Amino acid sequence: MEPIRGEEKALVLDFLNIAEDYLRDGYRMPHPRVDIHETEDSLDTIAQEVHSCASCILASTRNNAVAGEGHPQPLVLVVGEGPGSEEDKTGRPFVGPAGQLLDRMLAAIDLSRQTNCFIANVVKCRPPNNRDPAPEEITACAPFLARQLKILRPLVILTVGRVPTQALLHTTEGIGRLRGRFFEYQGYPLFPTYHPSALLRDPSLKRPAWEDLKILRAKLDELMESQSS
Ligand code: URA
Repeated sequence: MEPIRGEEKALVLDFLNIAEDYLRDGYRMPHPRVDIHETEDSLDTIAQEVHSCASCILASTRNNAVAGEGHPQPLVLVVGEGPGSEEDKTGRPFVGPAGQLLDRMLAAIDLSRQTNCFIANVVKCRPPNNRDPAPEEITACAPFLARQLKILRPLVILTVGRVPTQALLHTTEGIGRLRGRFFEYQGYPLFPTYHPSALLRDPSLKRPAWEDLKILRAKLDELMESQSS
């Protein structure tokens, strides 16, 4: 008898596996050789891609891209404009003076990035000299926020300031007219308010911002109540 070659040996082994399956519990098709599990997206994967992204010109001037941070199952996804100089230095969102005020605004209605909010931006890299992000930069970065939203599934999206609000709502309406009311964004309630840096520049905006935050809190309570009943 001739010796069995490699290819034939594989066939014989396959056959023996099928025969064994048959004897054990009836005929089964051979197991597929390729694993067809879908790759699951995750916040970590997105952050890694953000850190190595070179999809727009902001990549050439950034020190650190800022993916976002916070609770992975948040009540609120806060969306800002883009990293400033402190955020670019540290790689973390809203850590400069505006960020410290944002944390206090959130705390006033029982929210925080540690317990129930995720903080992100429409662009993940700092626009030089704190200029507004350009439309093509927002477009290049948009898939990251879209993927974050899909994973986070917040109860409400809070946009702070004109740039993220106009970008997500595709409008040129000013923030003074958009703030304090609910819009719909991809099935989520979206609520705009002033950017904390606007409150630092113009303290007279603190009162209307506080009115906005109370409306947001009431909506969250209502949504949480309807989820639990
Ligand atoms: N301003 C923003 O819009 N985002 C930050 O992360 C910091 C400041």
